[in-house]
Amino acid sequence: MALQHENALIQQQKNWQLRQFGNPRKDFIKRPPYQRKSVWKRKKQKSLMESFLLDLYVPPVVLRSITHDTVQKYEVVDGQQRITAIQEYLNNEYKLADSQRIRELDERHDRNFAGNYYEDLSEDDQAVISDDCTLTVDILQGINDPKNPEHQRLATQVFWRLQQGESLNTLEENHSKITSPVRNYIVERADDISFDYEDYRSLDNNENRHPFFGLLNYGNNRLKHLGLLARFLLIEIADGPAYVTGTRVTQLFDCEKGSLNPKEDQTAFRNRKIVKRADEMLDLLYDIFKDAEMMTSDGKVVYFENEYFIITLYTLIRELQFGNYRFTSSHYDEIRQFVREFYNRVENEPSGDGAVLRFKSNSQQSDDPVAARHWIMMNEFWEYDPGIIELDNQRLFSHAQRVAIFLRDDRICGQCLEEELEALGPNDDKAKAKKRARVDWSDWDADHIVMHAEGGETSIENGQVRCPAHNRSDNII
Ligand SMILES: [Zn+2]
Repeated sequence: MALQHENALIQQQKNWQLRQFGNPRKDFIKRPPYQRKSVWKRKKQKSLMESFLLDLYVPPVVLRSITHDTVQKYEVVDGQQRITAIQEYLNNEYKLADSQRIRELDERHDRNFAGNYYEDLSEDDQAVISDDCTLTVDILQGINDPKNPEHQRLATQVFWRLQQGESLNTLEENHSKITSPVRNYIVERADDISFDYEDYRSLDNNENRHPFFGLLNYGNNRLKHLGLLARFLLIEIADGPAYVTGTRVTQLFDCEKGSLNPKEDQTAFRNRKIVKRADEMLDLLYDIFKDAEMMTSDGKVVYFENEYFIITLYTLIRELQFGNYRFTSSHYDEIRQFVREFYNRVENEPSGDGAVLRFKSNSQQSDDPVAARHWIMMNEFWEYDPGIIELDNQRLFSHAQRVAIFLRDDRICGQCLEEELEALGPNDDKAKAKKRARVDWSDWDADHIVMHAEGGETSIENGQVRCPAHNRSDNII
């Protein structure tokens, strides 16, 4: 019984003479949007040409037949480097290897291949290469519209299966969603290469990439830079520490978060507050860290090597930027110094460093660890005494005290907790009540346990977390 294959692609197998790859070059799109940039060394190119001459096995290349502006072209799904090697040899860009095996072949057949450019070969020898040598091509048909997202998704899927022997990771899958405004914004800002859809051709650089991504001390393999920007956007949508797991990233690309709309026009999307804030944060992070003291020889910031560390830096700095502080470029030095020292603590991990141990044990991407890391770093930062002034002087507790109280009480309003515990059924988990009694940093009060008017001190010991409602009712009593 034959299964009805949903994704069946019509496939044609042909033997092409090498000259068919050489001319004209423009009919090949060698790096479609889903391809990564990779370049063979000359040695590998020469060894491929040697394989053709010696009639050794060369695996088939996979092409996708597409129609762009009514012109038929071939998109290279697999075989980018092999086709480039053939084209560059036929275009006299390198010589054949002067290897023993080719010299032996020359002797046996009275040829003169070894160490020669294509143009220096005799006509007969040229014909051996361009006409007698062949390469098998598999041509995919039925997914020939590059503007059709489903066609694009299938081509991407085939590419990754051939390339890596594995299926797409979340980001690669998301990267192929070419109609999503979120995807297009993220790719434009964070990817190191780009694709010109108008001309349907690949570009080796991306002039719109934000320079912040050039500071990252890890590559964009498997699109990790795109994942980082997606997580920044999730934090903007939540207006603070948030779930930034792969599942949430996919929801974001699918425009299933907040008020996002998959059909939204690109300009409208870019004008959203969350996007403008993410842009502002990228500018700010770049400004602060482009002069970092710990740089690699190729200009990367040494401590920008772990996504979870960078995400926490992001939540810390965005709090300073959008929160109620007088935060200016005069503080950048202190921030860099703090981050450097904190990073060194994380790297060295002395067993007695409780804050760092807690920080490291919360490296996951769900909301509790992201928030925990944020508060640990905030606490360390304020203890570092950065000299940043809080603008609101009505509050009696200092900022450092507020952070300490908030952390110590685990963000829980004690009165809310009492009420929530009473409301629980006999089989309910107490953790549920705790979760419900938690307040947000943007919306809580540091309350005196012994009232100020009765001589209570403004100290961490005499402070407690209260939600605004309970703080008001306290005061009335
Ligand atoms: Zn409360």
